Amino acid sequence: MNFRAISLLPVVAVSAALLSFAAAPGGNPEPAPVTPGTAGSPPSDAVVLFDGKDLSSWKSDDGGEPKWKVESGYMEVHGKSLMTRQEFGAIQLHLEWAAPAEVKGEGQGRGNSGVYFQGRYEIQVLDSYQNKTYFNGQAASFYGHNAPLVNASRKPGEWQTYDIVFHPPKPGADGKVQPGSFTVLHNGVLVQDHIPVLGDASVSAKFSGATPTGPLMLQDHGNPVRYRNIWVRKLD
Ligand code: MG
Repeated sequence: MNFRAISLLPVVAVSAALLSFAAAPGGNPEPAPVTPGTAGSPPSDAVVLFDGKDLSSWKSDDGGEPKWKVESGYMEVHGKSLMTRQEFGAIQLHLEWAAPAEVKGEGQGRGNSGVYFQGRYEIQVLDSYQNKTYFNGQAASFYGHNAPLVNASRKPGEWQTYDIVFHPPKPGADGKVQPGSFTVLHNGVLVQDHIPVLGDASVSAKFSGATPTGPLMLQDHGNPVRYRNIWVRKLD
């Protein structure tokens, strides 16, 4: 090795270090660029489950064709719960829903539906605007388990948003379930802050038992609740 080659060695070493730092800060891969949506619209890496046009991503929970009404960019509960044809593990979910503008019933009988993750764990949909019910049964509750931190409900007939991060509980090697979690924003307000999901299926769940993946289910509870703009991002 001549003198010139030796004198360049430190420069080459420093350059290589800088390059590796730029490519992999902290030893982790560079986060992938994602074009965010606007006002709840799906980001570039989302799986769109309902864009207001058709129910092609869904089936009836009895396995048949879905019968929900689709019009004016929304779908409306009608005859049987809906399940996605695709199954999901950990996801970020966005959806918008509206309880009937014409108020009928009270408590659990007013604008009741629900979002069942893996067909098992329900985040409640309910008209909870000036409508009392039990604390862990109102809108944005983890039904039967955990009340929302606040009641961020809009008036019946108005569109409301859920943004939910769900990690499923997992069966452990020792036979015990490793808890999953729910984090929920209702109309942009944090209402469930990393709440544990221990693996017990909710009332009216279609399935039970901890599992890596399962379908998303929207509940038919006999009230004409509307949904629109539904998308998920897979987190695993
Ligand atoms: Mg419900």
